[in-house]
Amino acid sequence: MATTIAAVRETTPGERRAALTPEVAKKLKARGAQIVIEAGAGASAYFADAAYAGVEVLAAAQALARADVFLKVQPPTLEEIAALREGAVVIGHLQPHLAPERTKALRDRKITAFAMELLPRTTRAQAMDVLSSQAAVGGYKAVLIAAEAAPKFFPMLTTAAGTIRPSKVLIVGAGVAGLQAIATAKRLGAQVEGFDVRPETKEQIESLGAKFLDLGVSAAGSGGYARELTAEEREQQQKALAEQLKGFDVVVTTAAVPGRRAPRIINAAMVAGMKPGAVIVDIAAETGGNVEGSEAGSTVVSANGVSIIGTANLPASAPVHASEMYARNLYNFLELSLKDGALTLDWDDELIAKTCLTHAGEIRHEPTKALVDTAKAQD
Ligand code: NAD
Repeated sequence: MATTIAAVRETTPGERRAALTPEVAKKLKARGAQIVIEAGAGASAYFADAAYAGVEVLAAAQALARADVFLKVQPPTLEEIAALREGAVVIGHLQPHLAPERTKALRDRKITAFAMELLPRTTRAQAMDVLSSQAAVGGYKAVLIAAEAAPKFFPMLTTAAGTIRPSKVLIVGAGVAGLQAIATAKRLGAQVEGFDVRPETKEQIESLGAKFLDLGVSAAGSGGYARELTAEEREQQQKALAEQLKGFDVVVTTAAVPGRRAPRIINAAMVAGMKPGAVIVDIAAETGGNVEGSEAGSTVVSANGVSIIGTANLPASAPVHASEMYARNLYNFLELSLKDGALTLDWDDELIAKTCLTHAGEIRHEPTKALVDTAKAQD
């Protein structure tokens, strides 16, 4: 039987991405699936209903009631979960570390929920990796925000009124977002330096034409991620960084440690040592902040005139391309299970098994199960 795949408008304030684009709807139809969308499902990303060829346009409740598979950008609301049929599949960002009541609702409704954040980061999974595709949008946008807020040009300019020196830009954290930020700042003509605690990033930073800022601290962890720094390493990093920061016009911070609060890398004393008019953009503001005093969604100006800009949901600010990449990620993930229009989940495939949050009335991800159990004990 043909699988019915549904998408509705995202209701989270500020969310402008769409989980399903006309391009992906067409590809899913070509694989034998049926598509139902809520009227206006892609409107916030400029995808008109008419652009989704051959799909049924319904009210949200009807679309959800018909769905075998429900595609989301933000986690489903409790109302959406209640409107789904038992046994339906949900795929999207599910933020399993937050809101245990949502995971409970998915479990109790016997939803098969795939949290794309849990996708193993293997080579085969790259085309499905929503964290990477959306982080790239974030890194790009953060630099544009910094360039807009800075009181200086990024590039060197030789003009009749004299020569303008290029801005000095530092990118802290050279993961997916950081490397995209470095590339973007380079394209704008700034003098760019980057640093990270993973030693392999030196070569990656240099391959983009930027300089690696060596603070003498290395903290490679497991699975290609950083580990938390020891107190001594942190102190050494802080001391060296405080000195270096005095020379930068713009700093973009992107450092994260998976599943934990973002590390505090720049404190108030370091900000106080920076040039008046310098700009810091903290992409990690939403997960605790790399910069002391940063607030997600607002700009704080320090006493010495340094603007600290805390970003919130940057990918939503480029909804067309962010949606295109996100929807393709979900398509590539779905493709593992769609054969002649029918959905068959291969639980021996680690990409399916490890991305699964809930299935058949159980929570399959141990840390989330523990979180839900703790929340229950506190009730
Ligand atoms: P992330 O968002 O978890 O962290 C961003 C960066 O911050 C990382 O590079 C991290 O090392 C750095 N960081 C953490 N603590 C720091 C500190 N105290 N000071 C300075 N920097 C600090 O990372 P991410 O961008 O999601 O990716 C991390 C790694 O995973 C990268 O090596 C990336 O290439 C790899 N990756 C692999 C795949 C794949 O193979 N499928 C997909 C995506 C990412």
